[in-house]
Amino acid sequence: MSDKIITGRFAPSPSGPLHFGSLQAALASFLEARVRSGHWQVRIEDVDTPRVVVGAADRILRTLEAYGLYWDGCVLYQSQRQDHYQHALAQLRAAGWLYPCTCSRRKLAQHARIGAAGWVYPGWCRTGVCQPECPAALRVRAQPRTIRFTDRLQGEKSQQLEAEVGDFVLQRADGIIAYQLAVVVDDAEQGINQVVRGSDLLDSTPRQIYLQQLLQQPTPEYLHIPVVVDAQGVKLSKQTGALALDDEHPGPALTAALRFLGQQPPAELAHAPAATIIDWAFTHWRSECIPTGLARNAPDER
Ligand code: GLU
Ligand code: ZN
Repeated sequence: MSDKIITGRFAPSPSGPLHFGSLQAALASFLEARVRSGHWQVRIEDVDTPRVVVGAADRILRTLEAYGLYWDGCVLYQSQRQDHYQHALAQLRAAGWLYPCTCSRRKLAQHARIGAAGWVYPGWCRTGVCQPECPAALRVRAQPRTIRFTDRLQGEKSQQLEAEVGDFVLQRADGIIAYQLAVVVDDAEQGINQVVRGSDLLDSTPRQIYLQQLLQQPTPEYLHIPVVVDAQGVKLSKQTGALALDDEHPGPALTAALRFLGQQPPAELAHAPAATIIDWAFTHWRSECIPTGLARNAPDER
């Protein structure tokens, strides 16, 4: 990969403002790309329209700027990319990988077992939908083979997709495109060859690699950083009421985020302008210092 230009990305869902947890992913993906003279792109993952909060995308972009995290090129919005997702679905359908499924969550909850990513779908509709009168989701067939990849931080990972996840949904019965498909289509479109994101997406990676293979797209390199959890071990998220980042005073959160990522910014940087902190980070960033593991407690000094 050394002769190739690195292209990383940050792909927030606009369901609320950025918080300390999402800042980790933004900062780590930014620095990993920039210190290797790479590009860094931003994609707004607003494909799940009912979860989109009006104004959140703009606010996220303003926060990134306030934190000195400037991106290259145009921001990609998933809500504007339906044609591309339908094109990918058509490609998979033509190759025989898709089938409609009318099974309800209730039926799954009653009869399916839990795997790496929720209920393992046992393939009831593989040979024809169970309830033709119901709206159908589209599932992709999993295969009985193991997907392997090496995460730069978490090491060797493998998943037996059919046994651990089952055939998974690419388009919901309400027509909404699933994250797994959108992310693969968009990473390919944006030429992303380096994915740095939270470890909560580690279990999604084999599904994404599988789709890349079916769609004949390259597989990026992956680095999953520990997610930030609260004292109860729950991931910080908009849903659990994590505080929005302060756009007026980025220093404290930026330096705390760097420390969380295993870096050692001098204490006095906490009140420096964002650009100064990013400059420091750019010169001192050492990805080998990012702590291993899937989760870490939020620092108190935030
Ligand atoms: N949109 C996802 C999130 O906010 C991140 C997707 C990704 O990085 O692949 O959790
Ligand atoms: Zn079904």
